[in-house]
Amino acid sequence: MIQSRVFNVLSDGYITVLRFKELEKLDFINQAVSTRGGGVSSKKGLESLNLGTQTADEWENVVENYRRFCNFANFDIKRLVLGKQTHSTNVRKVSEKDLGKGVLRERDYTDVDALVTNIKCTPLVIHTADCVPVGFIDQKGRAIGNAHCGWRGTFGELAKNTVLMMEREYGVKASDLICTVGPCICQKCYEVSKELYDDFENKFGKGRALLFDGSNYYIDLAEINIQILLQCGVKKENIINSDLCTCCNTDIFFSHRGLGPDRGIFSSVIELV
Ligand SMILES: [Zn+2]
Repeated sequence: MIQSRVFNVLSDGYITVLRFKELEKLDFINQAVSTRGGGVSSKKGLESLNLGTQTADEWENVVENYRRFCNFANFDIKRLVLGKQTHSTNVRKVSEKDLGKGVLRERDYTDVDALVTNIKCTPLVIHTADCVPVGFIDQKGRAIGNAHCGWRGTFGELAKNTVLMMEREYGVKASDLICTVGPCICQKCYEVSKELYDDFENKFGKGRALLFDGSNYYIDLAEINIQILLQCGVKKENIINSDLCTCCNTDIFFSHRGLGPDRGIFSSVIELV
C-alpha cells in the first residue's frame, strides 16, 4: 500500500494511479502518475503496466496498457502526446497537429524530453523509471508543461528551459507556477561516479543534494531540480516534492537501478481540461 502525504491514491483493484492532492484543487487540471499493476505485460521487469514505448515489450501490450491507464485516469488515448526522450534538454511546444503522437500515431520528432502546451484536452506524457518527472502548472490556467529530467536533463537544466519556454510562448510567470517533482530515485539509492559528482559540484555548488559518505558519492536529483526551479523564480511553497523513491519501491514503480535495464516505464501525465 502506498503511503504518501502529497498523493491521493485511486485504485479499482487492478489499476492504481496517484494524483497530486494540491493539483486536485485546480478544476482545470487532470493529472495522474501510473504504477505497475493492472497491465498485460508479462516479461520480467515489464510486468505489468509497462507504458514505455522504447522498451523490449510488444507494441500491442504497451497500447493496451495505455488504454487501461487512460480509461481509469480519464485521459483520451487518441489525444495523448508523448515526448521522444533521449536525455536531451529540448522542449517541444505541442500544437493541435501533435495530438495522438506517441501511442496511436507515430512521432515525427525526436530528442524531445519536455512538452508544453496551452491546448485543452491534450495530455502531455513523460515516462520515467528513476529519472525525475517534473510537472509545471500555471495557476492561472494559461499553460502546462511536463519534463523528463535524468542526470543529463538535470545537469543541462531542462526544468529551466521548460519554464523559459512557458514564459516566452504563453506569457506565464514563474511565480504563478506550481511545480511537481514526481517519484524518482532517492539520494541514497543514487550512487554516482566521482567524476559526475564533481561535475555537479562545480556547476551547482556543494549543497545538500550532494553527499560523500567517506567512500561513495551520491546525488539527489530531485533536490537539484528544486534548486533550479527556485532560481527560475518558482515559489518554494509551490514546489511539491513527492518524496517517493522508485528504487526503494519497485513493487509500485519501475526502476532502472532497482530492476535492471530490461525494466518497464511508468508515466506522469498532465492535461488542461
Ligand atoms: Zn531509494
